Amino acid sequence: MMHRLVLMSLLCLVSASTLAEKAPIRVLTTFSILADLAHQVGGERVVVTSLVGPDQDAHGFDPRASDIRRMSQTDLVIANGLGFDPWIARMVAAARYKGRVLTVSDGITPLMADAHEDHEDEKSASHAHGDHGAADPHAWLDIDHARHYVRAIAATLGTIDPAGAALYTDRASTYIAQLDALDVELRNRFSALPDHRRTVVTPHDAFGYFAHAYGLHFVAPAGLSNEASPSAASLATLIEQLRELKVPVVFLESFADERLIERIRAATGARRGGTLYADALASGGPASTYLGMMRHNADTLLSGLDTQ
Ligand SMILES: [Zn+2]
Repeated sequence: MMHRLVLMSLLCLVSASTLAEKAPIRVLTTFSILADLAHQVGGERVVVTSLVGPDQDAHGFDPRASDIRRMSQTDLVIANGLGFDPWIARMVAAARYKGRVLTVSDGITPLMADAHEDHEDEKSASHAHGDHGAADPHAWLDIDHARHYVRAIAATLGTIDPAGAALYTDRASTYIAQLDALDVELRNRFSALPDHRRTVVTPHDAFGYFAHAYGLHFVAPAGLSNEASPSAASLATLIEQLRELKVPVVFLESFADERLIERIRAATGARRGGTLYADALASGGPASTYLGMMRHNADTLLSGLDTQ
């Protein structure tokens, strides 16, 4: 009888420790695109939560107390960096979070934002203006950087959860193969566009990396964040430029304010193109994954630009 009791409690101990080993790694990402990448790499071994969800703007995110509390149940925080989600540092401090923080853009060479059309009047625009020479944070819109992000996520998950390291590496390789295939396809499709069909007008300045990768030229009235708005003078200059370039189509962005782009469209006589996704995945449909979003953006751009 005694033996049986001992055996039972031993069995209980064994099953408890097996359960503990199988508890998923809790990953908290700053925005939805990183959540998808973490899920692609981590599979069933991770549970991923995103602070800023699909169809939401991370630029001006204001964390709630419940978001800060959530960090006490987190094994890994994944942020973009490059000034996209600077509020994560305040959250880490406020929550006294002691776990790992991975900044996926570490190690890439960022594009610097042009000292493009100022959002402010001439006299207040100085070289000290914050946006001048700032790194463009939207690095994920170049598939090459997405590969870098995925490798960094796999390596970090492997150090936190060594038993899963081989799985993470495998899943990352499989996913990177899909990224490679899409990248080759997009390069081929965009290279077929004639030079005079490569100017794209979007609400905010998010597509610099995409433009760099596929040889396009993006023009945006707002700055790197949707929160900035151009002065009347710089908007007038932009409209004049677009008229001269005979830009026939303007594109919308999910959750960006449409009024500005609609003014430009009306003033230049351009058509409305489809909706592009830059800073967040869609909450449903084809753009609800990173691969789907990149394909959706390419299809939308090509169908808008090719029918000029
Ligand atoms: Zn943005």
